[in-house]
Amino acid sequence: MLENYGTFGRRIRSAVLGGGASLQFYMIPANLLINKANYVSTGVWAKKALKEAKFVGNVNVIASSEDKNFNYIPQNIAVEQDADYIHFTTNNTIYGTEFKENQVPNAGKVPLISDMSSDLFALKRDFSKYSLIYAGAQKNIGPAGVTLVVIKKSLLENSRKELPSMINYQTHINDDSMFNTPPAFPIYVVGRTFKWIMKQGGLEVIEENNYKKANVLYDYMDANNDFYKPTVTSKDDRSLMNVTFNLNSPELEAKFIEEAKKRYNMTNLKGHRSVGGVRASIYNACPIEWVEALVKFMEEFKAENK
Ligand SMILES: *Cc1c(COP(=O)(O)O)cnc(C)c1O
Repeated sequence: MLENYGTFGRRIRSAVLGGGASLQFYMIPANLLINKANYVSTGVWAKKALKEAKFVGNVNVIASSEDKNFNYIPQNIAVEQDADYIHFTTNNTIYGTEFKENQVPNAGKVPLISDMSSDLFALKRDFSKYSLIYAGAQKNIGPAGVTLVVIKKSLLENSRKELPSMINYQTHINDDSMFNTPPAFPIYVVGRTFKWIMKQGGLEVIEENNYKKANVLYDYMDANNDFYKPTVTSKDDRSLMNVTFNLNSPELEAKFIEEAKKRYNMTNLKGHRSVGGVRASIYNACPIEWVEALVKFMEEFKAENK
């Protein structure tokens, strides 16, 4: 699948592991943090990754959007050229911000590592510039229970060797992801999902659809800004996967969420508890018709409540 979106030759190895993306928060520094690592802090998941790295060694936070409750993507990130790697999160699931490929930090010669759990294969990326990418399957590529890790061989050459077996990337690579019993069924479904992506026309078509879907919502809100307020104001920073917004009061938001469920059985629209508001998660599996139905309801709700 990746071979279609970058020239890798024999330079990468991939592994399917258990433990979710959350285990990678620790495995990455355990294997790769020798002197110092750089982290970008753009939300709860990014901070969780940072927290685990601190158990292992020196970490510098080189950019953060915490000052505005993570509602934007930091610009002009300067990567320390003596860092072992730089870690960032492409899509910030809770806040609805996303690094598009042209916003990704310029790492220079420092290995670029990214948590792509909530937007892997939602849009085209230059995958070849990353040294390690990982994603828990459950948002975009399959059922919970499997995590995809793709790593450049060159990165492993300098990795820590003295590690417990399960934590060591080399173990899983040597044993073709079968060091211990792999989650066979989730892996099978991920394979089917990759076939589905290619059958749609590949990431070009998937990306185009995702922009269309997200823009149905963002365009509607930008035109109805007196009632629906997107939490991410900079258009470049807006997520294709998680569209977050507020209404004029928490009470009105609660009513919106309740009515959506009651009238149209639209569920899970409540924003994450750390930010409140409303969040529409429109991953690859969500067809444009569902997004259009949501906008239709938004129109209806606005007419009744403005
Ligand atoms: C959901 C999510 C995670 C957590 O993944 P688990 O597989 O549950 O550990 C990590 N990072 C991001 C960006 C996520 O959206």
